Amino acid sequence: MSNRIDIRILLIGSLLPDIIDKPVGHIFFRDTFSNGRIFCHTLLFLIIITLAGFYLYRSRHKTWLLVLSFGTFTHLIFDQMWRTPRILLWPLYGFAFEKFEKIDLIHWTGNIFYALYTDPVVYVPELIGGVILVWFVSVLVRRRKLYSFIRNGRV
Ligand SMILES: [Zn+2]
Repeated sequence: MSNRIDIRILLIGSLLPDIIDKPVGHIFFRDTFSNGRIFCHTLLFLIIITLAGFYLYRSRHKTWLLVLSFGTFTHLIFDQMWRTPRILLWPLYGFAFEKFEKIDLIHWTGNIFYALYTDPVVYVPELIGGVILVWFVSVLVRRRKLYSFIRNGRV
C-alpha cells in the first residue's frame, strides 16, 4: 500500500497551491498580500516538499509526499507560473509579492467566471483539466470503481 500511488493525494496536490494561497492571500491576510498566488506558487515551496518527499520515501518508504509534490508541480505548470517569474522564483526578486487591487469575494469570484469565458490563458488549462477530470470519473463509473477509489485512492 505505501508504494502505490494514491490518486486522491495527487488530486489534492494538484489543488494544494490554491487551497493554501487563495484563503491566505485573499481572506486571512488580505491587507498584507491581496494576491492569491504567493508562497505555495513558488519553486521554493515545490523544492521543499519534493525534498521532504524524497526524505520520507528513503527513510520510511512512503510515497504520499512525493505524489503530493508532483500534483503541486502540475498545478504550477497549468497556472503557467513561468509567466510570473517574480512569484515563481520568490524570493530572488525580493521578499514582497505583488499586490492586486482589493476586491470583495463576490467580485473576485465574478472576475474568475468572466475570465473563464473570455481569457484563453485561463480557460484553455481549465478546459484541459476539466476534460481529464470528466474522463477519469467516467472511467471509474464505467468500471464500477468510483466507490473503491473514494475509499482507498486506487483505480
Ligand atoms: Zn494556482
